[in-house]
Amino acid sequence: MNFSPLLRDVAGVVAFTTHVGFNACHYTGAPRDQVACDIKELAKTFDCDPNNIIIPRQTHSTNVAVIKDEIIPDLDGVDAVVCSGQGRVICVNTADCVPLLMVDPISGISAAVHSGWRGTVGNIAGMAVVKMMELGACPGRIMAAMGPCISVECFEVGEEVACQFPDAVVLRDRFIRPHVDLAQTVLMQLVLVGVCAENISLPVACSVCNHDFYSVRRQGRELFYRTLTGILLC
Ligand SMILES: [Zn+2]
Repeated sequence: MNFSPLLRDVAGVVAFTTHVGFNACHYTGAPRDQVACDIKELAKTFDCDPNNIIIPRQTHSTNVAVIKDEIIPDLDGVDAVVCSGQGRVICVNTADCVPLLMVDPISGISAAVHSGWRGTVGNIAGMAVVKMMELGACPGRIMAAMGPCISVECFEVGEEVACQFPDAVVLRDRFIRPHVDLAQTVLMQLVLVGVCAENISLPVACSVCNHDFYSVRRQGRELFYRTLTGILLC
């Protein structure tokens, strides 16, 4: 399987974004056997048990699930997973929304967050950091990286969406309709809860422009497939 590494400079962490051709999204209509096969391949690639691959059923909510000890909570209607300890690959699925990975390497607390425009308006990234802190993470130690998502150039929205974002992240002059910078909004939310700006990596690719990644904007609402972004502490 092809993937792009994220958080490369953090020791003991494997973080990745998959490329087109791989799909582990089990709730958007893709054939079940294809999904099972790809999850098996992912487990093999990262040398872990398929049962330790955690993929929530996302609904554009601001619900954050916490995994500690052996307890796996209900992952239906969950858009961020926070995990204490090693051995589990926590993941989110996206096709233009912001996939965000975070880790405090000292306390061994990690997070995978799906921050679409609704989740971003609801500050799911900030809420995930608060959950990490409840488990013992220190925001000043958190390293964060966003995977490929829709860029501000491509994210044209209606006024009813634009007005829900701070003015600082809405472009109104360069285009006919408003454009929103989702990644910049997530960055601001992380800084507000104490994550250092220099520890946050912005997306290196636009999911709409870069055909290595799935995009609902480019490929349409009927798209079965999603890009998977995940993190494993080892
Ligand atoms: Zn683009």
